[in-house]
Amino acid sequence: VRSRGLGDVYKRQMIIHLKENIDKVSANNIAKEVSGRLIFDEKKFIIITSSKNKEVPEKIREKIDESFIIDSDIQLSSRKYINKTRKIKINKIELGGSTKNTLMITGPCSIESKDQIEKCAELLKSNGLTTLRAGCFKPRTSPYSFQGLGLEGLKMLSDIREKYGFNIISEVKDASHVDDVIEYTDIIQIGAKAMYDHGILRETGRQRKPVLLKRGFGSNLQEFVQAAEFILSEGNPNVMLCERGIRTFETKTRFTLDLCGVSFLKEHTNLPIILDTSHAMGYSYGVPDLTRACVAMGIDGLLIESHPNPSEAKSDASQQLNFDEFNKMFESLKPICNAVNRNLI
Ligand code: PEP
Ligand code: MN
Repeated sequence: VRSRGLGDVYKRQMIIHLKENIDKVSANNIAKEVSGRLIFDEKKFIIITSSKNKEVPEKIREKIDESFIIDSDIQLSSRKYINKTRKIKINKIELGGSTKNTLMITGPCSIESKDQIEKCAELLKSNGLTTLRAGCFKPRTSPYSFQGLGLEGLKMLSDIREKYGFNIISEVKDASHVDDVIEYTDIIQIGAKAMYDHGILRETGRQRKPVLLKRGFGSNLQEFVQAAEFILSEGNPNVMLCERGIRTFETKTRFTLDLCGVSFLKEHTNLPIILDTSHAMGYSYGVPDLTRACVAMGIDGLLIESHPNPSEAKSDASQQLNFDEFNKMFESLKPICNAVNRNLI
């Protein structure tokens, strides 16, 4: 039977856990034997193969601890492989696993000045929040718009981390600064426009800090999940998926938040799911309602843009919440979290 294209190759995966005493040379040989991809997961080697084998070949069976045959086009992130949400540790906080935590990440679209980010830090502190976002390398539509403070911004964020003990999340836009972002942040954000950048995906996969991967606005769920597989297959198990709206025929809102897609990801993947309602809506007026709807779905986190003076913001001015709006929304999320048995952290 002739293959009907790439889709067929994906349809059956074998994930093989080698015994812990197998060294790298033997692991490599076994991977070659089954035409698989080798990754190292803390204590053991794992091989992923899309071969059509229904079982592990006889001659390598004794080297194997466990094997999983997965009839799915999702691999390491599949619930058929790990049937629960992976636990992710971000310094003192944890997401996924059995935690039931919903993490509120907030802060401005871009860091603009020391004064601005200090005010944002106070907003987090007054709400008992732990995780501050702010972009330094901005993927703007126009080269004439504000491009971000770059490394200087990362250093300011690092001072804030020092002072307040927050986790910092900032985005990597291209390969030129991926190492800086990894060095200065606690969570690396890969933006919607960078979702297909295999250089970034692979480099963030070769270290173990958590990665928040945003869905490209023109990407389907399969492409989104496969981008996450690039990170996982380099050996970094700490990946979060972020739905931030996709482009549809609608033009009255900036994007369309794909909540059906969120249900799909919850059902079929083992990665924590974060919802960004700010970029989806594009206008601050819709953000609180959308955020409440997302929280009611039982998700692992939120990414909400907030700014001390949104109308003066150098990027995404229309969608950022001012602090009153943020505080009011945040209060309203608490009873919803209780109702769906989540802890808002
Ligand atoms: C952002 O988080 O500010 C951002 C640029 O988001 P996205 O990549 O989803 O457009
Ligand atoms: Mn933004």
